[in-house]
Amino acid sequence: MKEVFDVVVVGAGVAGMMAAIKAGERGLKTIVLEKKSRPGIKLSITGKGRCNFTNSASVKEFINLFHNGKFLYSSFNAFSNLDAISFFENLGVPSKLERGGRYFPVSDKSQDVVDALVKEVKKSSKILTSFDVKDVKRNDDLTFTISSLNNSIISKNLILACGGASYPTTGSDGSGYALAKSFGHTIKQAIPALVPIILDKEYLKDLQGLKLKNVETSVIFDGESLAKEFGKMEFTSFGASGPIILALSGLIAEEVSSKDLILSLNLKPALSNEQLNQRLLREIDKFGQYNVNIMLKELLPAQIIRPFVNYCGISGTKKCSQISKLEREKILNGFFNFRIKILKTKDLKEAIVTRGGVVTDEINQKTMESKLVQGLYFCGEIIDIDAPTGGFNLQAAFSTGCLVGSSIGN
Ligand SMILES: Cc1cc2nc3c(=O)[nH]c(=O)nc-3n(C[C@H](O)[C@H](O)[C@H](O)COP(=O)(O)OP(=O)(O)OC[C@H]3O[C@@H](n4cnc5c(N)ncnc54)[C@H](O)[C@@H]3O)c2cc1C
Repeated sequence: MKEVFDVVVVGAGVAGMMAAIKAGERGLKTIVLEKKSRPGIKLSITGKGRCNFTNSASVKEFINLFHNGKFLYSSFNAFSNLDAISFFENLGVPSKLERGGRYFPVSDKSQDVVDALVKEVKKSSKILTSFDVKDVKRNDDLTFTISSLNNSIISKNLILACGGASYPTTGSDGSGYALAKSFGHTIKQAIPALVPIILDKEYLKDLQGLKLKNVETSVIFDGESLAKEFGKMEFTSFGASGPIILALSGLIAEEVSSKDLILSLNLKPALSNEQLNQRLLREIDKFGQYNVNIMLKELLPAQIIRPFVNYCGISGTKKCSQISKLEREKILNGFFNFRIKILKTKDLKEAIVTRGGVVTDEINQKTMESKLVQGLYFCGEIIDIDAPTGGFNLQAAFSTGCLVGSSIGN
């Protein structure tokens, strides 16, 4: 007779390994199937190889930051950020707090997190690598058969923890969506979230490489701001990247195919119109015999001055004493509202996370069990959840994985 497992987990990523640890601890006979030759490849490249595994934010803040955040209440209560910190401490991976509430291992090595998880899984469960799950089906006796091209495994319960569709070379290539769909689940189309954006090239030759701090960027459609972010960004050869751009990118990916979107930069968000006007008047007075380009060096990084004056439609070689009131207003507008057309986002394969996936309505948020098929569970990025950078996405993978592993088979 073929061996029957209590739990098969498809995907040895963060969520799958966490689920296996919790299920194994409860005495359930558990095996994790991983298509790549080693577990946790995506985890090993997180946080630029340093693994920003969670954040100090409150549960409420976590929920607010997530797309479909309310779905995650039970998961974050089952395994919070504090739980994650002490969990890794107990596994010999102490952590440190950095700017923005971000937690990293003290060693700055994401591989330490991977190794600790793998070791913990292996205490009570198995990991079978190079097992690419191609087909899953429900049998008449209510068990599941999980098959690769040349092998199959039977289990009483099945967890799909296949991740999203970004960075496909790490193994998470979207194949989990087809497996979920074969059980009748609805898949919201996967689009990139946390991805650089491509801008109209008019100013990019000059701006490429420029890093800006303390700026506010808004996404504008039809004169209305759809979203705004404050912080750091940088211009690249194709467009823009950096934390505030990544944070806006999910919305841009959703809207850009049907709307003409504009990126508006507020280069002086700390100043009111009147404050900046007064400052400008002082600078114009001070630099009266010098030209506009020289005066602007007092107010802007040198690299942005040429595109800035072009944008404002004034000559950079004009003497400051000759600037008209209208031209001063154009300069003010340039500071608060420097607009560049958004063409699109970079591809899904370059995104840090995927927006879309198995719709949350079809999953019981208290157990992560499918509402359509008893014994089928989901955890991690395969579900339609995503958040900005800062350790939130990994925490969601840990939390949903923990909830599945604790509730499966009950
Ligand atoms: C470059 C980069 C940096 C990131 N940095 C951070 C960070 O610092 N902090 C943060 O919070 N988040 C970060 N993220 C996001 C985070 O890595 C993911 O949200 C998280 O890994 C999702 O975990 P998961 O377990 O759901 O999926 P994954 O970690 O993607 O794991 C899924 C696993 O399933 C396997 N699999 C898929 N299909 C099959 C199949 N058919 N058969 C068998 N196995 C299969 C895959 O090979 C993979 O190992 C980063 C992402 C990227 C790409």
